[in-house]
Amino acid sequence: MKDTYRHKGLRKKLITTLREKGVVNEQILEAISTIPRHLFLEKAFEEWAYVDKAFPIGNQQTISQPYTVAYQTHLLEVKKREKILEIGTGSGYQAAILAYLGARVYTVERQKTLYDRTKELLYDLGLKSIRTFLKDGMLGLPDHAPFDKILVTAAARHIPKALLSQLTVGGILVIPVGEEIQKMCKVIRISPTKYSRMYYDDFQFVPLLSGLNKKE
Ligand code: SAH
Repeated sequence: MKDTYRHKGLRKKLITTLREKGVVNEQILEAISTIPRHLFLEKAFEEWAYVDKAFPIGNQQTISQPYTVAYQTHLLEVKKREKILEIGTGSGYQAAILAYLGARVYTVERQKTLYDRTKELLYDLGLKSIRTFLKDGMLGLPDHAPFDKILVTAAARHIPKALLSQLTVGGILVIPVGEEIQKMCKVIRISPTKYSRMYYDDFQFVPLLSGLNKKE
């Protein structure tokens, strides 16, 4: 697994593109310019790693577009040492960005092949602050709750109640809500019983599905 000057140059260009699209959070731009995104794609698709696009990672899933990663991470207001739950590990790229920002990451994937592959990759990359789980993320991770932040990287028809209940008071949940097209939603738990919801731009994610898939 190599990260060369050429890759670093491509990342610089990607950062310029993201700035042009309105990304202003310097910490997030630094994370994106540091994490070698090409290592999260199969070798044959390396060339595509630094284009601002989502890309297939197998099993009908995609690695999120860098712009989307920056957008969701910004809404999450990540601070060092925070305990963050991510639903939809996929390639592990978003989890790596959160870890770079100093979070303690718990990431959940429902597809066994992706889970196995990404667990190994994160281990090889030395990202030890990321804990991976093969589970149905719609149920959250009750054994490890509560979480300061929760990030869902798949499209939800409705906000799963389990996720709301696993947020700390003052905690933030970022989740794309809708069917074909989703609105990015940010939920803040303002008291044990009250939540505020804000809606942002439109996105298109692969669907959040219930149950485990051990075959794929
Ligand atoms: N965050 C990922 C992008 C993931 S794509 C990255 O950075 O690459 C969405 C992922 O969510 C897919 O891998 C899909 O299998 C997973 N997913 C869908 N429903 C899920 C559920 N209920 N629990 C856990 N993972 C789920």
